[in-house]
Amino acid sequence: MEEYDDIRQGVRALCAHYDAAYWRGVDEARGFPEAFVRALTEAGWLGAMIPAEYGGSGLGLSEASVILEEVNRCGGNSGTVHGQMYNLFTLVRHGSQAQKDHFLPRLASGELRLQSMGVTEPTTGTDTTRIKTTAVRRGDRYVVNGQKVWISRVQHSDLMILLARTTPLAEVARKTEGMSIFLVDLREAIGHGMEVRPIANMVNHETNELFFDNLELPADSLIGEEGKGFRYILDGLNAERTLIAAECIGDGRWFVERARSYAGERQVFGRPIGQNQGVQFPIAEAHIEVEAADLMRWRACREYDAGVAAGASANMAKYLAAKASWEAANVCLQTHGGFGFACEYDVERKFRETRLYQVAPISTNLILSYVAEHLLGLPRSF
Ligand SMILES: Cc1cc2nc3c(=O)[nH]c(=O)nc-3n(C[C@H](O)[C@H](O)[C@H](O)COP(=O)(O)OP(=O)(O)OC[C@H]3O[C@@H](n4cnc5c(N)ncnc54)[C@H](O)[C@@H]3O)c2cc1C
Repeated sequence: MEEYDDIRQGVRALCAHYDAAYWRGVDEARGFPEAFVRALTEAGWLGAMIPAEYGGSGLGLSEASVILEEVNRCGGNSGTVHGQMYNLFTLVRHGSQAQKDHFLPRLASGELRLQSMGVTEPTTGTDTTRIKTTAVRRGDRYVVNGQKVWISRVQHSDLMILLARTTPLAEVARKTEGMSIFLVDLREAIGHGMEVRPIANMVNHETNELFFDNLELPADSLIGEEGKGFRYILDGLNAERTLIAAECIGDGRWFVERARSYAGERQVFGRPIGQNQGVQFPIAEAHIEVEAADLMRWRACREYDAGVAAGASANMAKYLAAKASWEAANVCLQTHGGFGFACEYDVERKFRETRLYQVAPISTNLILSYVAEHLLGLPRSF
């Protein structure tokens, strides 16, 4: 039996109502799986990591990772909902008591959604410490100016965590200092200093450019201490990377199963294509890679839940799982031959969806750079 079988069965039962045709329809329409997200919330799965005293289930990262893995393994796209799982960390860990009392029960009940996090900027990209969006304190408000790019699920979120510079780079001792995070109420911000422009893109991942022109935020939107926002964001990244790794494991298992099943059924030259070792070996290899990556995902989950440093495992799990799911996607597509390109087989959709995880939320090169510098002690390159 697999770990957390009860959670797996529960999520699978819910996902059974949102079958391949549902996800294909959402993808074709470039829509949002509203019914699925509502059902996942009402069943309590999206509030899994909200502490019980605020109406959530108070579960750990391990359990949360199983929920997202199963959504993808059932053929869905947890990229539509995963933001809330990891954005919560920031609020739970660094939010004030008043913020937690106000927002967490509403997030647990589904009254509010916290699906968005605004970090990336068009001119600075991965070099986050050089972000140009500023938040300047004026009396009981912060005034925000600047631009973000690739910010996801803004149209289906009520709240967004925003990273902005509160002290100019030239005035801080270390470039990681002087940035702060804010909980932006999107319902009030959009149209009043914040503009949202969708970016047409390869996957059905609702993602946007954001423009801030004197957006005013109440001072109590600040999360934690002013100037420590970058540290808070980093703090949440290990959880985010581990959850994404689990999603990739879910994708990887979906691809392997689809390839296995098609290879057993499809007859060419009078026998199943899976009888040819040239077809079966790549599927076996994909299976091995996915299962190996899963071991690192569990190491990351356990370290995180035990409260010990999980940075190394979380980064390596994300790297291995994103690579394994992408390789499995390739194998699955190849196994299906021309039919892999037909939308009704869902392979091309999942193929596009899993490709994202080599780039976002952190690109593969940046993980390699982390490992080289922080784990192997090689010289810092940037
Ligand atoms: C669909 C989608 C959804 C997203 N959602 C969000 C979101 O909700 N919130 C958010 O804040 N961001 C989001 N992102 C942004 C995402 O996190 C970034 O795209 C990603 O971190 C890479 O940044 P970049 O695109 O600016 O690439 P760049 O920084 O311009 O880098 C381009 C390439 O160069 C490589 N590179 C850059 N510098 C180095 C170096 N020093 N050494 C080696 N290689 C290097 C990178 O690895 C990358 O492959 C999303 C992106 C996409 C595509």
